[in-house]
Amino acid sequence: MKRLDTDILVIGGGATGTGIAWDAALRGFKVILVEKRDLTHGTTGRYHGLLHSGGRYVVKDPGSAVECITENRILRKTHAHCIEDTSGFFVVTPEDEGEYPDLFKAACEKCGVPCAEIPVAEALRREPLLNQRISRVFEVPDGAADSFLSTHATAQAAQRVGAQTLVYHEVIALLLEGGDGNRRVAGAQVRNVTTGEEMAIHASMTVNATGAWAGQLAKMAGIRVDVIPGKGTLVAMNHRVVNTVINRCKKPADGDIIVPIHTVAVIGTTDERVTNPEDLRIEPWEVYLMLSEGEKLVPSISKARVVRTWAGVRPLYQEHYSGSSRDATRAFTLLRHNNRDGVQSFLTMTGGKWTTFRLMAEKAVDAACEQIGVRQPCVTAETVVPGIEQGHYWLGHRLHEVEDLKLQGELVCECELVTRTMVENAVRRNPLVTLDDLRRDVRLGMGPCQGGFCTYRACGILHELGSKQQADARPPLQVSARDATWEVAYLQSPAHNNGAAAAAPSPLSNQAITVEDANLLLRDFLQERWKGLTPILWAQQLKQERLDELIYLSLLNADHLPDGDRQGPLSTFWRFDTTPNEKTERDHA
Ligand SMILES: Cc1cc2nc3c(=O)[nH]c(=O)nc-3n(C[C@H](O)[C@H](O)[C@H](O)COP(=O)(O)OP(=O)(O)OC[C@H]3O[C@@H](n4cnc5c(N)ncnc54)[C@H](O)[C@@H]3O)c2cc1C
Repeated sequence: MKRLDTDILVIGGGATGTGIAWDAALRGFKVILVEKRDLTHGTTGRYHGLLHSGGRYVVKDPGSAVECITENRILRKTHAHCIEDTSGFFVVTPEDEGEYPDLFKAACEKCGVPCAEIPVAEALRREPLLNQRISRVFEVPDGAADSFLSTHATAQAAQRVGAQTLVYHEVIALLLEGGDGNRRVAGAQVRNVTTGEEMAIHASMTVNATGAWAGQLAKMAGIRVDVIPGKGTLVAMNHRVVNTVINRCKKPADGDIIVPIHTVAVIGTTDERVTNPEDLRIEPWEVYLMLSEGEKLVPSISKARVVRTWAGVRPLYQEHYSGSSRDATRAFTLLRHNNRDGVQSFLTMTGGKWTTFRLMAEKAVDAACEQIGVRQPCVTAETVVPGIEQGHYWLGHRLHEVEDLKLQGELVCECELVTRTMVENAVRRNPLVTLDDLRRDVRLGMGPCQGGFCTYRACGILHELGSKQQADARPPLQVSARDATWEVAYLQSPAHNNGAAAAAPSPLSNQAITVEDANLLLRDFLQERWKGLTPILWAQQLKQERLDELIYLSLLNADHLPDGDRQGPLSTFWRFDTTPNEKTERDHA
């Protein structure tokens, strides 16, 4: 079996794991990060998109609120291009009156969360669709954040300082040494899920950053970690009904935030304790609840088109806790398994939020330094990731670049303004195993038609690239971030992709694409998109889906493509049953 050696092995390619890899590599460690799918496959790729100001936690969990506002200020600098400075309102609807708004204001002051009460008329001028019956409005520095881009940018920043990232590599066992009382995790046995090849990665320190899967991973070392998987369902509306993050000014509950992110507005979320982090089935009652709660903030919201629903599972952790996931702490927890369980060289970092991933990474690497016996300070708060010179994201950025360079004829995805060169560069420069990876890279298929028109075009491009690769008979190349003039940080910029990068000689992707693969990618991507549409098939979206069905099933005969029984890395993911049941209400409501 192939063997690799490293100082620190990080398991999990979400915000926390990539943050740890970046921090550890900056402190001079040799680092390998392994992720069983693509980066952000887990909760990081399924979250709400809020850069917390801390306002949500000031009353209930002031410690988390202080962490959020501190990290909010840092991330605006270190990950500027991944953040939209939307600002945030906490609004008092007729149902929220009482003592909470005053408690909220006082608690913001205590936690250092900037909070200004603004006239209702001003709030309504800025957000005309808001409920006209709100009585008070507080403004806080909330923002919207793109976790796909930020995680890729963090991973690239880590690679620039020597970290190695292995996506589609799953830890199937931990390497254990020593006997009772003297056990040690010495690394992990990893399987490449696309080739089946296995290897052993030996490490001085292994960090479990697998989020909601942390309990399953710790079990491989014989350790019990009771993560409380709290599933949250989110509902995306087809346009930005608001441009500011809108929160209800009350104790956190279901459906009390609307976040404008990219071209859509997302209402969230529910919080249901589930037994399995892969349990992502969305129930009709969750969608109805989001829409009816959303109406209290923006009364017309349910008249807009629902484009998609999705769910993520919170990796909550609270020692000896048995209550509901809604009331479990949102704080993060570092488990030092040497002290807690008598197992050396193994740490688990879990809980927390996307907003606090950098701080979580700092604490995990501090603990690793302490155990390895190295004194190196954390520098991530003062180090920027590639791409920040683009400034904060703004809604018109892609349109502006497309119009400026007259790239309209180049568009593969009209909803999200994805150009052909963006697709080609992402395929060539970023490890790509499924079309869903391309979605995370450039936002392909994420707009109102949910892949109706762009999926077959992207497949055609992949097919062409694959045929060219076969014709050239060149061996597939591994792309290293260091030799690319094109940067992951610019995945989402039509202008950058159209410029220097496109002209640069591009090594082909590390995946050989064959005709059958393109068919497989098409089928799996359509199925994956379908998963988030089954709970919302009514009104305009049903018409859209009927059109997509005619394109793919009637015109392209997509369910009878050659080699239709083949399995891709995404197949197992959509093959689990996502059929919503008929319940329209929560059992214990
Ligand atoms: C519905 C919802 C909404 C949220 N909204 C917000 C928000 O608006 N703002 C905010 O700040 N936070 C939000 N959060 C919280 C935030 O999303 C999470 O705290 C954060 O993304 C967790 O990141 P992570 O890296 O710890 O976990 P993950 O992103 O889940 O990463 C863990 C990774 O480990 C991988 N993995 C698992 N097992 C293995 C294995 N055996 N081998 C290799 N890899 C493995 C998984 O594939 C996964 O990619 C939300 C959470 C939910 C559920």
